[in-house]
Amino acid sequence: KFNFSAGPSMLPESVLNQIKEELLNWNNLGISVMEISHRSSEFEELAQKTQRNLRILLDVPSNYTILFCQGGARAQFSAIPMNLLKKPTGNIDYINTGYWGYRAAIEAQKFCNVNIVNVLDKDINGFYFIKPINEWNISKDSLYIHYCPNETISGISINDIPIFSETKILIADCSSMLLSQPIDINRFGIIYASAQKNIGVPGLTVVIIRNDLIFNTVSNYKKIPAILDYEILLSNNSMFNTPVTISWYIANLVLEWLKKLGGLSKINEFNKKKSALLYKAIDDSDCYYNNINYKYRSIMNVPFFLKREKLTYLFLEESKFFGLYGLKGHKIHGGIRASIYNAMTLEGVLNLIKFMNFFSRQCS
Ligand code: PLP
Repeated sequence: KFNFSAGPSMLPESVLNQIKEELLNWNNLGISVMEISHRSSEFEELAQKTQRNLRILLDVPSNYTILFCQGGARAQFSAIPMNLLKKPTGNIDYINTGYWGYRAAIEAQKFCNVNIVNVLDKDINGFYFIKPINEWNISKDSLYIHYCPNETISGISINDIPIFSETKILIADCSSMLLSQPIDINRFGIIYASAQKNIGVPGLTVVIIRNDLIFNTVSNYKKIPAILDYEILLSNNSMFNTPVTISWYIANLVLEWLKKLGGLSKINEFNKKKSALLYKAIDDSDCYYNNINYKYRSIMNVPFFLKREKLTYLFLEESKFFGLYGLKGHKIHGGIRASIYNAMTLEGVLNLIKFMNFFSRQCS
């Protein structure tokens, strides 16, 4: 079986095997990792190792803190404005690239004035693209600019980090792209990602934040729920409440796997290769199409449609017989979506292409 789900998504096979092996006897304790205290020395060691591995893989500068949070990326949609804004009249910019960029903006509107910057456009051939940055309607006095570099649902991606005035704090929801490629953390005030795509399983959200943003801009107009307060999370080593220990454990296995593979440059080459093969199969076919300009295509989430839309259901049903799972597009988008995160093998992509070619004979 090959699992193309957008998240929760597939884990590397070696990670699954290790979980199976250690399930009832972790760290030679004779019990499972799910049953031990997060305050035990064994778990604390694991937590520190997970932090270290993330720091190494992402090359996180020393003036940044890594927090492990709960509530998914959606909790960060509220936590960020709550922690950063000094007053409810503050202005912030949210780049609207699609579903997730927009959801983050709508949540932030509960806390301050949000300028929603629409950057998505369609060319005369019907291909979506992102407008050039000089056409983005950024406010002069905004404290920060939030964007989503990879829209998981539509497969639109902003591949180059946008450049703004140095006074603006840049914040990114990297949920579906973190760890898929090297990223220059220095360019950001905050980046965050929920774990269930490239980091592991749901329950854990990684927040990487420049230290001055934790201490200098704590909200003075609203009391922040303690569980969302970055200062409290930091002073409790991300264990203010009981963490999702199983999720931390699996994240560490994934990070170890990624290190062994050679890190982010290596995985990026692999991801580019897989996505190029898949986009080529779509573009070369008379049966399928993708409607995103090639410069803005995601290497993680590859959505496509059948030209004869009515065959979509049949495609999805038949794909299951080929051992291909989770290809249904998001309900608001329709069509097909193949999420090919780090753990997706080349064999999985080649099998999908083989099936697509087989199915396309039924289209003509
Ligand atoms: N942001 C992006 C880009 C996502 O893809 C998702 C979920 O798929 C979310 C936010 C929401 O994440 P969560 O369900 O962990 O809150």
